[in-house]
Amino acid sequence: MNLDHILNKEELSKEEIVFLLSPGNEEKDEKLFKRADEVRLKYCGNDVHLRGIIELSNFCEQNCIYCGLREENKELTRYRMKPEEIIETAHTIRKLGIFTIVLQSGEDHYFDTDMIAYVIYQIKQKVDVAITLSLGERGLDEYRAWRISGADRYLLKHETANSKLYSIYHNQQRFEDRLEHLKFLKSVGYQIGSGNMIGLPLQTLEDIADDILLCKELELDMAAFGPFIPSPYTPYQNKQAGSVDLTLRTMAIARIVLKRVHIPATTALATLDEDGRIKGLNAGANIVMPDLTPSPYREQYQIYPDRKCIDENPLNCKGCLQLQIESIGRKISESRGDSLKMKDKIEL
Ligand code: SAH
Repeated sequence: MNLDHILNKEELSKEEIVFLLSPGNEEKDEKLFKRADEVRLKYCGNDVHLRGIIELSNFCEQNCIYCGLREENKELTRYRMKPEEIIETAHTIRKLGIFTIVLQSGEDHYFDTDMIAYVIYQIKQKVDVAITLSLGERGLDEYRAWRISGADRYLLKHETANSKLYSIYHNQQRFEDRLEHLKFLKSVGYQIGSGNMIGLPLQTLEDIADDILLCKELELDMAAFGPFIPSPYTPYQNKQAGSVDLTLRTMAIARIVLKRVHIPATTALATLDEDGRIKGLNAGANIVMPDLTPSPYREQYQIYPDRKCIDENPLNCKGCLQLQIESIGRKISESRGDSLKMKDKIEL
């Protein structure tokens, strides 16, 4: 296959994506990352959008095979933030000059429809921010209610587009249901984010190519690709972590294939590689999602161990990121960073 030809094509086939994902050729990777960076500049400019994450509960009713929050992990100290604490934290994040709040948790029905609606409404009343929900799979009526109370976006990673693997990783749950949820979220007006994990046991390069193609089919507003990190007290605790390089290749290809989409340099990538964030931003990413959950909760949200910056004071986070981002000639955005697809529509 001719690399230069492939990198300049409008559409990539699955075979071409697999070729680009394949390891072992530094020169190929350099060209791939350079092309992704050009596409990123064309569609996103030099702005990097920050999304401040509040992890409001680490209780979870699911048993995802890779995740440290899984219900069967009895070693984890569980917590729930109080609604007023969440609202207060959202305020603090906005005061730092961050315009998107991500409310994330395990699947925890203690936070019922009304409680989440209340939190969304209160935050929106007091501060001008976009709200992303990342609360797992919930009821369709709940998604609709939260959209009405002011939520803008929903992040629900598909994790893998291989339905057999999906069931293995997710305690026999169905991939088709995940897709239905994503489609429903889009239909009620959410900007939707999804994506996969790189390097889970049994996953092949063909699977990752399918993941990227699924992101295209779903017309995602954000696509997130993070490496798998083995987590203690899970069935996958002794498995190998995903590869940083393969994750970077996936992000770069996704940028080239999906074009007008937000792509984060994930915390998982930064956890496996000291320079992961910068490498990600140089391989197609335009988003960073710092964890701004207050202590002592942040230490207890252990989806995987040794998360990047977990011992840092969230209040210092923006300054630190700013230095890193400016060091590569980029800048922190001063807007909400809504869907690039929406911007397109407004301009037309
Ligand atoms: N419960 C919510 C969100 C919380 S977990 C949901 O299901 O959407 C957020 C993300 O962390 C998951 O989507 C998954 O992609 C990632 N994650 C979980 N365990 C992980 C691990 N061991 N290594 C890397 N990423 C992991």
